Amino acid sequence: MKDIDWNNYSLETQAIRVGHRRTHEDEHSIPIFATSSYVFKSAEEAALRFSGQKPGNIYSRFNNPTVTAFQDRLALMEKGERCLAFSSGMAAIMAVGMGLLKAGDHVVCSRGVFGNTVLMFQNYFGKFGVETDFVDLIDTAAWEAAIKPNTRFLFLETPSNPLTEIADISVLADIAHKHGCLLIVDNCFCTPVLQKPLELGADIVVHSATKYIDGQGRCVGGAVVANEEIIEKHIYPYLRTGGSTMSPFNAWVFLSGLETLAVRMKAHCENAFELALWLEQQPGVAKVHYPGLPSHAQHELAKRQQNYFGGIVSFELTGGKEHAWKLIDATEMLSITANLGDVKTTITHPATTTHGRLTPEVRAAAGIKDGLVRVSVGLENIDDIKKDISRGL
Ligand SMILES: *Cc1c(COP(=O)(O)O)cnc(C)c1O
Repeated sequence: MKDIDWNNYSLETQAIRVGHRRTHEDEHSIPIFATSSYVFKSAEEAALRFSGQKPGNIYSRFNNPTVTAFQDRLALMEKGERCLAFSSGMAAIMAVGMGLLKAGDHVVCSRGVFGNTVLMFQNYFGKFGVETDFVDLIDTAAWEAAIKPNTRFLFLETPSNPLTEIADISVLADIAHKHGCLLIVDNCFCTPVLQKPLELGADIVVHSATKYIDGQGRCVGGAVVANEEIIEKHIYPYLRTGGSTMSPFNAWVFLSGLETLAVRMKAHCENAFELALWLEQQPGVAKVHYPGLPSHAQHELAKRQQNYFGGIVSFELTGGKEHAWKLIDATEMLSITANLGDVKTTITHPATTTHGRLTPEVRAAAGIKDGLVRVSVGLENIDDIKKDISRGL
């Protein structure tokens, strides 16, 4: 294969072409390397590879050609120097914490992040002496005020789930760097097709590949993307020892997921935009949360920061929980599940599922009303999606 500098190519092309090191079999599609270990030509070569003096595969806990192909491809798409794949999105977040934090450190995290991310920081890193403060995603002053001398990093998701609030990544990156902290962005909702946090100044991107990167609800996986120094010094040693490795089969599924990611994301966004506009016109709908709507509080920022507005729409019904449950139960085709990023449209009631364990006061403070419904808009025909939602309106 020719030695191509893929940095000169656009994201759509990188997503299809990067990562394959063709073998002597001349295969066109990337093979699944189902092997746990690799053989060395001599005892000396084994010693050189183990000591890192000679590059090459050793053991599939920390190197496998199929997984490496996925990592190389996603790194380039996110405009990062290096990517490491993990067994799940949570394993990727765990790796960032295990790699970067020590007892006595402090973390600032946005309040609306994925539920298990909150539990990870509070219960698990908390157990080992790391303190985490949670702040409002869009309150820039609160982020800065929460930073302490021992703060190691700021962690956020944008857009937030389920209200689609948007944080200004470059502003928060400047604040983090001014105080000697790192900025970590969970880019699961946008993927590099919609936004590239590293280009905006973030230091680390984490992914749940389970969502849009797979896109068809088959595999669980995750990734960390950052510069060479962060990966080599902090994340790779943890992966090698901690062993939360992505399997070659899952990497192979995610590789083909990446190949269609740009096309799918644009289609998700088009369907979501049309659904949001339509919902705004419907009786019984008090408010629609979608960054593409001029009524969205961070619409201008969304236009600046993202290429498209995303595939998640949430809306509030005037009839509260009763109407929300009725609308969900009246659907015929939509999947009632909290999962997202699938070609299949999913619908969920955050107040009694993803946010059900919060107290009513905390939930109210987070803006999760009882009448709120979240839709992860899939790629079915938009008229069929509207028809299914209109049954319970
Ligand atoms: C699902 C999700 C995660 C966790 O990923 P898993 O692959 O399920 O472990 C993390 N962050 C966000 C934003 C998610 O939606």
